[in-house]
Amino acid sequence: MGILDDVVINAKSAAEAVGKKAGQLVDVSKLRISAAEINSEITKRYQALGQYVYEDLRDKISEDTEAAGKVTELDELTAQYTAVMKELNDKQNRTVCPSCGKRCSSGDAFCSVCGTKLGE
Ligand SMILES: [Zn+2]
Repeated sequence: MGILDDVVINAKSAAEAVGKKAGQLVDVSKLRISAAEINSEITKRYQALGQYVYEDLRDKISEDTEAAGKVTELDELTAQYTAVMKELNDKQNRTVCPSCGKRCSSGDAFCSVCGTKLGE
C-alpha cells in the first residue's frame, strides 16, 4: 500500500470512532487535536511524496519547463543551505563528517560516530 492509503485508512478509522460516539457529548478539543494531527501527517506525507518524486524523476522532468524550474529552485536552495551551514560550522569550529553527517570539532582527526577520517 502507498503512503496515501495509510492516511485514508486512518481517516476512516477516525470517522468510525467518531460515529461510535454519536449521541454522546463530543469532546471538541479532542477532535481539534485529532484534526491537527491528521493534517500534520498529510503535510509530512506530501513532503515525503515530493521528495520521492524529486529524487525519482529528477532527470526525466527536465523537459517540463515548470517542473524543471522548481528543480532548479530546489538545487539553488540546497546550495544556499550548504553554504550557510559551512559558514556556521566554520564560525563554531565545527566540521561535518562526510560519511554520516555528524557535526564534529574541527580539531578531531576522526568522526566520533562512524570513525571516518576528518580534515581532508
Ligand atoms: Zn561520521
